[in-house]
Amino acid sequence: MKTGYLIDMDGVIYRENQLIAGATEFVSALLATGTPFLFLTNNSAPTAEDLAVRLRHLGVQGLAGRHFYTSAMNTADFLSETHPNCTVFVVGEGGLVAALHEHKIANDAIQPDYVVVGEGAATTDKLAKAHELIEKGARLLATNPDNWCPVSSQKTRPGAGALAAFLESSTGRRAYYLGKPNGYMFQRARKKLAESARATVEQVVMIGDTMETDIRGAVESGLLGYLVLTGSTKLEDVGDYVYQPTRILQSVAELTPEVISGKIGDGGVHVGQTGRSSGSRHGQRHQTDVLALHKPRPRPAMTK
Ligand SMILES: [Mg+2]
Repeated sequence: MKTGYLIDMDGVIYRENQLIAGATEFVSALLATGTPFLFLTNNSAPTAEDLAVRLRHLGVQGLAGRHFYTSAMNTADFLSETHPNCTVFVVGEGGLVAALHEHKIANDAIQPDYVVVGEGAATTDKLAKAHELIEKGARLLATNPDNWCPVSSQKTRPGAGALAAFLESSTGRRAYYLGKPNGYMFQRARKKLAESARATVEQVVMIGDTMETDIRGAVESGLLGYLVLTGSTKLEDVGDYVYQPTRILQSVAELTPEVISGKIGDGGVHVGQTGRSSGSRHGQRHQTDVLALHKPRPRPAMTK
């Protein structure tokens, strides 16, 4: 059975500008075997080419822009498909500006159809302008719902979801969030994966480290969802979620032999083995609240 892979980057391939052990061998195996794959990231700041260069500097060779699909590219695809010739006011970085430009979506600081919020720095002036344009009728769109993004194991930065929340709060208008876990991101990525493959892709695996984006999106889009424990999710937290991964792996390194042999293995922890911590009460009023009362919650979920 031909398997294609959608692969998250931060927490799967690298972390804190350090490659995760075995990631290079995993990517080399994908390339050497001609296995269809696509890196899928919610980071709308870099372009696909920027990401290829970044990975090259980290030691992963052989990648090009075509191997990446960002939430910025997804936003540009969405707008050009659903609203051709629309205009936008952008609060975001180069990757978002470039993706919109590639789809010939014009910038408009007078009467745009959309205010598009992406990852990156935003000045108070820019947010004030976005606020004013939304009040004049522009619709609010965010490239991704991440409220915060990891910078290191000890440090995070505000994400596009937090910037969009600022504008939601000031204008009273709700944003629409693209990127993972939105099905449009997965639908488009799947299409791109199929186009790049030489044979029909019979099953698609999403590999990611974040339950709220990678695994939720995989479950909702009918893909296999493999959780790796090299990023933002700890094994003991997996049982908190209503949606569950198909497999749990220590890292992507465990998949390299499967890519080489072409046979999906059954290694890793399977759903059901994670369970919930013993001693938790049954019969809580809401399923999602089962462990919430018993565990310290240093911060709210990564996304909305
Ligand atoms: Mg990640």
